[in-house]
Amino acid sequence: MLKDTFNRTIDYMRISITDRCNLRCVYCMPSGGVKFLEHKDILQYEEIARILRIAVHTGVRKVRITGGEPLVRRNVTRLIKMIKGIEGIHQLSITTNGILLERYAEELAEAGLDRVNVSLDSLKPERYREITRGGNLEAVLRGIEAAERAGLTPIKINMVPIRGLNDDEIGEFAKMTLTAPYQVRFIEFMPFVSEDIWNREHFIPTGEIQSRVEHIGTLTPAKMKKAGPALYFSFEGAAGVVGFISPISNHFCKECNRLRLTADGKLRPCLFSETEIDLKPALRSGGTDDEIRRLIELSIVVKPKGHSMRLEDGFPSQDCSPMHMTQNRQRRPMSRIGG
Ligand code: SAM
Repeated sequence: MLKDTFNRTIDYMRISITDRCNLRCVYCMPSGGVKFLEHKDILQYEEIARILRIAVHTGVRKVRITGGEPLVRRNVTRLIKMIKGIEGIHQLSITTNGILLERYAEELAEAGLDRVNVSLDSLKPERYREITRGGNLEAVLRGIEAAERAGLTPIKINMVPIRGLNDDEIGEFAKMTLTAPYQVRFIEFMPFVSEDIWNREHFIPTGEIQSRVEHIGTLTPAKMKKAGPALYFSFEGAAGVVGFISPISNHFCKECNRLRLTADGKLRPCLFSETEIDLKPALRSGGTDDEIRRLIELSIVVKPKGHSMRLEDGFPSQDCSPMHMTQNRQRRPMSRIGG
């Protein structure tokens, strides 16, 4: 297993397979839309599988498929089967908005997918439509049920609470765990879109989210093996658990074990740093496996110690600004990096 400069084992790769999405969430995509990549610039499934076969030799064991919306890419189950066939990959999951999950859940499970994370930010149909700029909540709820039936469990539901937009639903989301065996996770809003939606007033730190969840009942730490950045708790007698992920108020950089691969073939060692290592030239001009392995190792070597965003007097510090760290260029939206 390869360790990075700060003694972290990098064994997890998040792979974006498309920058396209069937939703346009207000906190994820800019209102003016984004220019999509051309198909020729997107890695082919064979290229992704080759990168992963090589990455296994640097220690990658866990893979998550994301996007954009991964289920909009044609024949995604073919990729799932290819990855499942790679010796050394022990865990394969997908992050989806759930809109197409009802249609694909069974196929995905048959192809070997282990689990799904579903992003869901409102349980009110009209509000869901507004946040996602047109999404159908019913389709997502049917998708979650289909995933459960197909055994893609435990199902994780990710919610991003944003003040004034959906924060009055924090309690309802937490209550889902009373009867359903879900892991409902609250993720702090991160600065990826312009200041009109990302600003210090809209941001809610985990401490506040957690105290709002505690209005429902007492939380006790859940007995689970720590895997990933979430801290898990449960209500007494609940079927599921509640998780909190705090990229700003309590970073997990010290434990960060991941690399991201963008849809156009760039390895990004940190979500918040613009450093990227382009694998495509080597992939497409006859680079050997050894050369590609060295590029993967390089991305591990340059993985920064951490990001500097934090809370100051209860609010996100100045360097949380979406313009910060990018020389006054806005950060790429999440859909472009791969969330
Ligand atoms: N389309 C898939 C989905 O909806 O899960 C995968 C891609 S989406 C970019 C991945 C995750 O990024 C979602 O859970 C979404 O909530 C999260 N995300 C996007 N923008 C975010 C932001 N500004 N702050 C926090 N999370 C964000």
